[in-house]
Amino acid sequence: MSQVKRYQRPQTVQQACEAMLANPDAKLVAGGQSLLPTFRLGLALFDEIIDLQGLSDASLNYIVRHLQHHTDRNIQHSTDMNLNRINEQQLDTLTIGAMTTHAQVAASAEVQAFSPMLTKLAGGIGDAQVRTMGTLGGSIANHDPAACWPAGLLACGGFVSVSSSTQTRKIDIDDFFTGMFSTDLNADEMITSVTFLKPLSATYLKFEQPASRFALVGVAVAHHANHVKVAITGLGHGVMRWHAAEVALHQRFEADALKTINLDPDLACGDLHASAPYRTHIAKVLCQRAVNQHLSR
Ligand SMILES: Cc1cc2nc3c(=O)[nH]c(=O)nc-3n(C[C@H](O)[C@H](O)[C@H](O)COP(=O)(O)OP(=O)(O)OC[C@H]3O[C@@H](n4cnc5c(N)ncnc54)[C@H](O)[C@@H]3O)c2cc1C
Repeated sequence: MSQVKRYQRPQTVQQACEAMLANPDAKLVAGGQSLLPTFRLGLALFDEIIDLQGLSDASLNYIVRHLQHHTDRNIQHSTDMNLNRINEQQLDTLTIGAMTTHAQVAASAEVQAFSPMLTKLAGGIGDAQVRTMGTLGGSIANHDPAACWPAGLLACGGFVSVSSSTQTRKIDIDDFFTGMFSTDLNADEMITSVTFLKPLSATYLKFEQPASRFALVGVAVAHHANHVKVAITGLGHGVMRWHAAEVALHQRFEADALKTINLDPDLACGDLHASAPYRTHIAKVLCQRAVNQHLSR
């Protein structure tokens, strides 16, 4: 079994990033709920731990809502007044620090007011111990193919803010998840926060693996002003959008709109818990139930 030879508790994001840069074989640990079990089983190898629990300024543990009214004036030189467009938009976003735990999200009145789907999703993760230690940043960095957060985030839309020792950047959520257990993060980058766009309404439903409460399949459906987003977790290759369902639901927001649309079982993996065709079938059923829940509100 590999051994941890060095353990650090940086007090700032900058120190954590510098520690990552200094040792490419080091690993960040946030809540430890995914990393430490895989390490103990010999499935993850590293020789140094950079423990984010020591960040002194609570800089990565917060929930804040931004309501921005912005006017986009796109005035063209023309006698045709119809081309003078003034587009007023209200941008309503919620930013959650990477070290915020699932339990904190589940208990937050701010999150509940923004999107009850997010509090419900967080409150349904694992058990009280996992929720108390596990973090939003750790969950999406890990990108377990059965994790709940990636589906909720992809359905809302938004971006992930990341830092390295020399720069910060924002990654559009549609570009963030690149495959099973993989993301667009560079080796020397860490997540600092996650920003969600407010949907008009949203639902996340999961068919639980009874032992762990991970999603055997989980589906998030979010209704936005001009479009519908459907994100599925648990199929096996990592979270994905179901574009055919989005188009159908945009045209007619009814469960019946999905009647003739099916997910290709090749998009899923089978294992001892469920076959690939079973998973894709469950995904469609959950998607239809989510639509019905929207309609019954
Ligand atoms: C019994 C059990 C049941 C669970 N059930 C569910 C469930 O139903 N749904 C669900 O979604 N999840 C579930 N989980 C996973 C849980 O949500 C974890 O909390 C989460 O996956 C990882 O968060 P963490 O803070 O513990 O991360 P850690 O385990 O500390 O880290 C995970 C990975 O993320 C990296 N990392 C951590 N923080 C950052 C950061 N800020 N920037 C960059 N990289 C970072 C680490 O280096 C590591 O590679 C379950 C876990 C267990 C043990």
